Amino acid sequence: MNVRKWKILLVYPPFLEQRIHEDEIRSLPMGLYYVAAVLKNDGYEVVLLNLNDGKPPIAQIMEMIQQFRPAAVGFSILNANRWGGIDMARRIKALDPGIVTVFGGVGASTLWEHLLTHFPEIDYVVIGEGEYTFRDLVRSLEQGALGDIDRLGGLALRKDGGPTRTPSEPFIADLDELPDPSRYFSYQHLSLTRGCPANCRFCGSPDFWRRKVRWHSPGYFVDQIEGLVARGISFFYFSDDTFTLRKKAVVAVCREIIDRGLDIHWAAISRVDTVDEETLGWMRRAGCIQISYGIESANREVRRFLDKHIHLDDVRAAFAATRRCGILPRAYFIYGCPGDTDQTLQEALDLMNDIKPLGAIFYILDLFPGTRLYADYLARSGQTDDIWLAPIEDILYFEADPGMDRETVREHGRLLRDGFHRMLPRFAADIQLLDDPEFYPLHADFLSRLAMTFHKGDYARIPAIPQKRRTAEMLYRRALDYAPDARAFLGLGMLLQERGDFAAAADPLARGVRHHPEDEALQTCTAVNDIHQGAYRQALRRLRRLKETPAIRHWMAQCRRGIGEADSSSVPSAPESE
Ligand code: SF4
Repeated sequence: MNVRKWKILLVYPPFLEQRIHEDEIRSLPMGLYYVAAVLKNDGYEVVLLNLNDGKPPIAQIMEMIQQFRPAAVGFSILNANRWGGIDMARRIKALDPGIVTVFGGVGASTLWEHLLTHFPEIDYVVIGEGEYTFRDLVRSLEQGALGDIDRLGGLALRKDGGPTRTPSEPFIADLDELPDPSRYFSYQHLSLTRGCPANCRFCGSPDFWRRKVRWHSPGYFVDQIEGLVARGISFFYFSDDTFTLRKKAVVAVCREIIDRGLDIHWAAISRVDTVDEETLGWMRRAGCIQISYGIESANREVRRFLDKHIHLDDVRAAFAATRRCGILPRAYFIYGCPGDTDQTLQEALDLMNDIKPLGAIFYILDLFPGTRLYADYLARSGQTDDIWLAPIEDILYFEADPGMDRETVREHGRLLRDGFHRMLPRFAADIQLLDDPEFYPLHADFLSRLAMTFHKGDYARIPAIPQKRRTAEMLYRRALDYAPDARAFLGLGMLLQERGDFAAAADPLARGVRHHPEDEALQTCTAVNDIHQGAYRQALRRLRRLKETPAIRHWMAQCRRGIGEADSSSVPSAPESE
């Protein structure tokens, strides 16, 4: 490997607006890790900078850039963070006009002409699959071989005073030839495939990947997981457009995860017409705990407008099978579509009532460059890409359709969310699971995770969901009917303690520590329960066996106080058992 002189900074710029599902934008896009791995393999020093995770102050970021002194900076652009990228590029050019700035990603690939026309702070745009184009650009610049640059494929640049682009590069034929980024970085999002064969009107994938799908081999994919597990990561998001496109590949991946004994959990994205119970069973065995399915609309005409060609029978079958296997099925719905009425809203609520999703995300239909919906809008309205000169993240479809009313759309969104939240405890109460002993421990894990979501997690924080604690208690108890699950013992014990019923909490906690003596959380919770019941010596003995932390020290002090008070009191303390 040559040691290169140039240092490269790769930036994931900040989004303009706050969003409801912040976690969906917090992680660096997968593609940036691949670009970085290709550069590192070529001997470059690379730093990744995520400006959507905690958002450090801009002065601190600029100081870091000044110290690192990159020769080139690559920006990963989605439409919604393009202004964040432009702002950073401007600051970097002000710092040193010699630093080369390169935009890439889905958002930049479509808007290359607009970006190079209006923003002199952007030097180049990499169009499409960018790993090799970016590396070759950096190589040419480093070597001063400027004449080579316009021979690179998939690149937009300025020539004779105006923006121009070179022909696209063919896609990388064998994805496994890409270096495995887990050799260099820690991350949680990874994908088995690139591309999707479907052609949904609102989605950027068909244009970016040209509806071609390529696969990593199961071995490559699971090696990557194994590399990340070795770095201490145990939860993953499989970010494929549709993870389950090829049953054989999915089952091979799952078998490989199981055979290698990888103790992981993961969430995936799928389509309702590409799953069956056998595949889902393998996914569950290999650690899958959540699958998101795009339903978009319950109304056939609206789905037809969106070019989402799925059948409601497949939706019903996929959701039922996913629940049976003990995987949380999550539904994506889009509202604010042409053709949406109070009637289609009711159809969506009825469909939810039917399929009982245990998670749901509701999006307003958006116009993004790179989608057919956006191309149709430009053709219809006579607008150009210059609409993006406004400091906006996106255009909501209803804003561009004079026939649609903002208040009605907003109200539909509210009613969908409220309806889902109101029905959710009933969906949780009506979970029918596979009656297969092999799955019992997995069912216990599934039910106790869901219980925790109602008790302490996301659902606990949503006022519109009724009966959260009752639902959590029911799920913890159901989990324990399947297997002695540590999370269920702990959750049930805590829930009963929070209710002040320490006598009732003693039983699940005692059973929990019997089954899981090494579980420090269960031991601590049991000791706290003992303290509340006046069994200070017993609690102290238990706490002394645990690793000392500030919390443990606090409870031990409480025990000593309790013992001192009991000793100095004339009333004999309650008898304590070992
Ligand atoms: S929405 Fe999903 S199924 Fe449709 S084209 Fe995009 S990735 Fe494919």
